[in-house]
Amino acid sequence: MTTERRSSQPRRRQSRVLILPQTLTVQRLSELTDQNPIDVIKQLMRNGIMAAMNQVIDYQMATLVTSAFGISTAMAEADEADADNESTASAEVEQAGLVTRTPVVTILGHVDHGKTALLDSIRDTSVAEREVGGITQHIGAYQVEANGQLLTFLDTPGHEAFSAIRARGSKATDIAVLVVAADDGIMPQTDEAISHAKAAGVPIVVAINKMDMPAADSERVKRQLSERNMLVEDWGGEIISVEVSARTGDGVSDLLENIAVVAEIAELKANPDKPASGVIIEAKLDRKRGPTATLLVQDGTLAVGTYVTAGGAWGRVRAMSDYRGDAVKQVLPGTPAEILGFGSIPEAGDLFSVVPNERTARNMAADRANPASSQQAQTRALTLDEVVNQTPAGELKELNLVLKADVQGSVEAVRQSLENLTENNIKVRILHASSGGVTESDVLLASASEAIIIAFTVGTEPSAERLANRMGVEIRHYDIIYQLIDDVELAMQGLLEPAVVDVILGRAEIREIFPTRGGVKIAGCRVVEGRMTKGVTVRVTRDGKVLEESTVTSLRHFRDEVNEATTGTECGIVLQGYNDFEQGDVLEAHREERARR
Ligand code: GDP
Repeated sequence: MTTERRSSQPRRRQSRVLILPQTLTVQRLSELTDQNPIDVIKQLMRNGIMAAMNQVIDYQMATLVTSAFGISTAMAEADEADADNESTASAEVEQAGLVTRTPVVTILGHVDHGKTALLDSIRDTSVAEREVGGITQHIGAYQVEANGQLLTFLDTPGHEAFSAIRARGSKATDIAVLVVAADDGIMPQTDEAISHAKAAGVPIVVAINKMDMPAADSERVKRQLSERNMLVEDWGGEIISVEVSARTGDGVSDLLENIAVVAEIAELKANPDKPASGVIIEAKLDRKRGPTATLLVQDGTLAVGTYVTAGGAWGRVRAMSDYRGDAVKQVLPGTPAEILGFGSIPEAGDLFSVVPNERTARNMAADRANPASSQQAQTRALTLDEVVNQTPAGELKELNLVLKADVQGSVEAVRQSLENLTENNIKVRILHASSGGVTESDVLLASASEAIIIAFTVGTEPSAERLANRMGVEIRHYDIIYQLIDDVELAMQGLLEPAVVDVILGRAEIREIFPTRGGVKIAGCRVVEGRMTKGVTVRVTRDGKVLEESTVTSLRHFRDEVNEATTGTECGIVLQGYNDFEQGDVLEAHREERARR
């Protein structure tokens, strides 16, 4: 007989992640980390930063302290940081210098619906006009002007790149343009793109493309959008949709104007008076110039001559050029630039920040290059029970899920059952639900949004499995809908069994003790439940308390060495390195197993 029960062992060590605002005072950092402010200041000094108690430091500097204390951190998204009114000291300082910044736009949509063509068309219609004959170079992003406002376009279209950056802790995009081919309508990756943009909380502008095609049917696209709770303006909703043709250029300037309007509504702000921070968009090794990186400044102003760190790379900015290849001396928020000066190649998606001096830059980079560093911790997602258990009591929290099932029918059935659950002020939020196996796109979305993937009667693509392991995304597989619902319900009640369960294989009671000449003792036992096997791990328990954990090195039935002893049999057991058992103690044979549900 095999009994399964909840583990009495301490759970796998699951470190909590401390969410820090983008800037905070030293004092606040010491409160949040529960450390003496003096220790925090000392730690900063060790990294070459002289900071007083009420001095404002940025997130990157804060991680120097937290990683020294072994605390994993993640940066709050801008709005969360604002909501954190406890960090008012820094918030107020920032409020003063806030100005409108350039919005950053990413193009998403199904393959072949014209994302690249649209990016090209936008660049041609708006950039080339000003740069007659000028060669625009591809640095991973470019800017155009619409309604007298600059717009930055990221040149890597698609929701995977979009969520990969988010998964690394940065929100690079302010507005998503969803491209839908008018002759094809909404396709699976359109749905994925919608889910990714919604999960990121990014406003969507729909570009109904290929309007030059005879089969173009924009009404069908609008209807399909409405079926996904996305009502466009002429269907009485608020989502802006624009009919375009990337091929002829028709409608493209209209699209840009509308993006500019959405940007205005979004009221994007930044403080150009701060040292710069942002995200690396692209990086490569240029044979002549050394490592080059395109970065997007998100806050502050980046200037030539300053020290920057990004992931495990650092350097001093030697030269910067804009998307046209023109040299620039400073780069403002919302603006991309290619920079020279990194000593090694940073990774796309890494956050960068300006630091006061070379020593800090070097230390931060070395710290992050260490695999146990904070950057790694940032990419680690949460498990189902962690998500729920992290919720402070009384606060409404969403349990983010990505749902995959074999066919659309089961997707809908599972989705409905899950969406009806509410427990303990927790609501299920399904970020994406579709049929088919778990893909890399699902893992990126889950990682970027701290979601758990629920796979119902479907498997996981090997590449997605590897990515999930690397990013620490939990994928839970189910074959029976009730177990799935039960687990999610239990998780919502904070009662979910850990993914690793402890399985009791058998129990044996020690009846008599036989000493041997070598000082080793033999426990004369009777198996009362299940079985004892040679080599099995056992806990020695007395009155229900665990005294020791050991292994069965010898198992005898009378004089014969045997491999197992089943319920009701007598046996002699020798334990590896443990002889302090007494009559009446119980040996519990057990094994840790991945929960199969
Ligand atoms: P992506 O996979 O979304 O980046 O799609 P592409 O930009 O590569 O476009 C896929 C195909 O559709 C290409 O052959 C384009 O030339 C074509 N295409 C893109 N936009 C239009 C358009 O507005 N009209 C027409 N007729 N073809 C287009």
